[in-house]
Amino acid sequence: MARRRKPLPLIENLKIETAAAQGKSLGRYGDKVVFVTGVVPGDVVDVQVTKKRKSYLEGRATKIHEYSSERSEPFCEHFGVCGGCKWQNMDYKFQLKYKEQQVIDQFTRIGHLEVKDWLPIIPAPEVKLYRNKLEFTFSNKKWLTIEEIQSDQEFDDRNGLGFHIPGAFDKVVDLNECHLQSEPSNSIRQFVRDFTQENSFSYFDLRQQHGLLRNLIVRNTTIGDVMVIVSFFENDEAKRNLLLDALTDKFPEITSLLYVINEKKNDSLFDQNFICHAGNDHIIEQLGDLRFKIGPKSFFQTNSKQATALYGAAIDFADFTKDDIVYDLYSGTGTISNIIAKKAGKVIGVEQIEEAVLASVENSLINGIDNTEFFTGDTKDVLNPAFFEKHGKPDVIVVDPPRAGLHDKVVMEILKASPERFVYISCNPATQARDLALMKDDYIIEKVQAVDMFPQTHHVENIAFLRKR
Ligand code: SAH
Repeated sequence: MARRRKPLPLIENLKIETAAAQGKSLGRYGDKVVFVTGVVPGDVVDVQVTKKRKSYLEGRATKIHEYSSERSEPFCEHFGVCGGCKWQNMDYKFQLKYKEQQVIDQFTRIGHLEVKDWLPIIPAPEVKLYRNKLEFTFSNKKWLTIEEIQSDQEFDDRNGLGFHIPGAFDKVVDLNECHLQSEPSNSIRQFVRDFTQENSFSYFDLRQQHGLLRNLIVRNTTIGDVMVIVSFFENDEAKRNLLLDALTDKFPEITSLLYVINEKKNDSLFDQNFICHAGNDHIIEQLGDLRFKIGPKSFFQTNSKQATALYGAAIDFADFTKDDIVYDLYSGTGTISNIIAKKAGKVIGVEQIEEAVLASVENSLINGIDNTEFFTGDTKDVLNPAFFEKHGKPDVIVVDPPRAGLHDKVVMEILKASPERFVYISCNPATQARDLALMKDDYIIEKVQAVDMFPQTHHVENIAFLRKR
């Protein structure tokens, strides 16, 4: 006979002590840590435990007895439902404090690292409307709010356009206003939703795999370019042209209007063919005195204004000279390489996505830069002693890998190549700390600088600058 599970406990009056990883906060209950979502350090809450493990519990707050002084009033009507800005209920100065703390924790707990100089986090100049790219999803199963469910209204039509609901992959929150991207982002999304509803366009059903409209991507730049990409599941030329022409008429500020017919099961577009309906097939961003061409598949830091601060700090630490041979690993579309190229002797970029490499070469060309070279491939396969021998012994290596951090082999090749200076830019201080631990016998961590690229979220970007012992 199956054993009945014991119900999970309700913890009363738990004091939330600090912020933890992944946007959760934590308190302590007996000898166990309790991770709680949606609360702020300083709150006193009742917690319904939802998961029980040997060393920790997870749960959600069912009642708040005391509100923390670190709280602030969320400014978005979708807060709590939409997964986008989980820290909107925390005052910005405390967001910064916990981001800094997160880096220190990871460096000391995971890496057992010594740091000569911890620099204070660089706050973002704008805590709203800072993103240059948002991707919205069309779904025929919009999430209903508690008020909607409790009302007597019938919801036969559940088409929605917005962000995925955390933990419910086929549902979206139907957004009225999003505070992450400046206009015309909201106006475009609202127009597309109203127009497609009025004209009875079907929205995608992810489980059943049917419906016309899948995704809407809006990208913009600080110099006023706007790219809109509409991803369709079905190839209905008449409806597609009706929508795209309406967008062109209504928004003359769109400088690049593209579409994709994505007939695959998943939403990812990196392997899809983008077709230009109107305007250019790219947009242009400007950082300092350099211009960057951004195609529909190109990676570009999502907060352009803070990208200048991030790259600026990394460049200051490395203090490049015209004799330096620099390697930029995980170079993307060559943004860092091209900025460094102005100050260094030569820059060699390595990136695995072919289109990004082509964009890097083009970005050098449009800026009149002739001391860069880019190579396509997985960094772990490209790097070996012969590669460094061929292109020159590195004075500085800069890495900016994805969240997974560096492959062990990449760390080993960097140690063998033995640059005098090493700059590690990371969007995940946990893997960064793990990787730096492998280098601590050979390198001193001179500076650590967190930069806030993503206000209202727990995400933190972090630079570590190392010098050979
Ligand atoms: N430095 C760039 C891009 C950083 S994003 C900038 O600031 O704009 C990380 C980049 O690493 C992405 O472009 C991704 O395509 C690339 N990448 C991921 N795994 C890789 C690997 N194993 N080898 C080479 N490049 C990789």
